Amino acid sequence: MIISKSFKYQLRLNKEQESFSNQTAGSCRYVWNRGLALKKEAWEERKERISRFDLDNLLTEWKKEHDWLSIPPSQSLQQVNKDLDQAFKNFFQGRGYPRFKKKGINDSFRLPQGITLKEQLSKKVGQVQLPKLGIVRFTKTREINGRIKYVTISKSCKDWFISFNCEVDMPPPEEIPQSQIGIDRGITTFAQCSNREAIPGISPLKKNLKRLAKLQRQLSRKKRFSSNWRKTKQRIQKLHYHIANLRGDFLHKASTQLAKSHSLIVMEDLKTKDMAKSAKGTKESPGTNVKAKSSLNRSILDQGWHTFQNYLSYKLNWRGARLILIPPKNTSLRCRICHHISKENRISQEVFQCQNCGHTENAHLNASINILAAGHAVIACGVEALASTAKQELLIRRPRF
Ligand SMILES: [Zn+2]
Repeated sequence: MIISKSFKYQLRLNKEQESFSNQTAGSCRYVWNRGLALKKEAWEERKERISRFDLDNLLTEWKKEHDWLSIPPSQSLQQVNKDLDQAFKNFFQGRGYPRFKKKGINDSFRLPQGITLKEQLSKKVGQVQLPKLGIVRFTKTREINGRIKYVTISKSCKDWFISFNCEVDMPPPEEIPQSQIGIDRGITTFAQCSNREAIPGISPLKKNLKRLAKLQRQLSRKKRFSSNWRKTKQRIQKLHYHIANLRGDFLHKASTQLAKSHSLIVMEDLKTKDMAKSAKGTKESPGTNVKAKSSLNRSILDQGWHTFQNYLSYKLNWRGARLILIPPKNTSLRCRICHHISKENRISQEVFQCQNCGHTENAHLNASINILAAGHAVIACGVEALASTAKQELLIRRPRF
């Protein structure tokens, strides 16, 4: 099976390369924001869609207006149009609305062609030739495998990074373990498995939240754009980066471990982004209890459930195993022994006690066993049968490649 994998390294740019990269990222941001504004207006006011082809034609016009748009590699700017097109396709499929880009936040650009790896300078220093940038050096912490499809150059807290996106041919796994589990996701326990194993949460954001709040208070007292303001701003960005790394590491380790050990994993299809949105409500109908909900939402997002689901899905697919998502209906209120459903069964966040048969156990464990059973029902009845009889939306994750 061919899978895509990325390999990320810190770049060692010289002054010229750095200023060129800043300029290119800036031009890409300009093209994104201008294209987005046009697409937004066309859709919101006239329900029209501007195609990628139209955007590429417009780009030629914009280059006549601004000489500086001819400096970066034109393939990078065309990639922006491609990404914008994809972002709108995602939006029309019900995922979030594309956002405008701000300077200094996720500055990046992509190069799909003209990438040649060169001989390494030393054991730790790799070299790659890129269009217009010439030969750039990077700290090589591990080998690059597979065929390079494109590279992304990105900036984070003054440091530049290169990510090689490669196609890797994965050999089929020797043996798929026969174990099947259900997982209940929670706040204090990150994942409770139906086989009684549990993965505690790490909440990296929570641990660093006090520090973050302190820095943000400091920032608000400083004069905007002064040198002290910039310094504090940079420290905040560094902290965000640190938190993201901790969380990414944790999610990778947990998902790898689970994907290695099971042939089927069943989880609830929790739309965490919707949950986060609903707390705030809208202008017309503001949400109730916003503060408490937003703190819960922060922990949900902090745990990175959505990312975890994605990691788990592709890692299981690599191994020929699968992830099934079931609708989260009554899984935490139903007794797994007698199937009695009641709100009173959940006597606390952690404890489940059936009001019908008296069965008592950890609430998350009870839920995880129900989740596994729901997954088995899906396999036995087939997706259509269950979807039409229960009239519930059902999702089965399929490999993306
Ligand atoms: Zn019961």
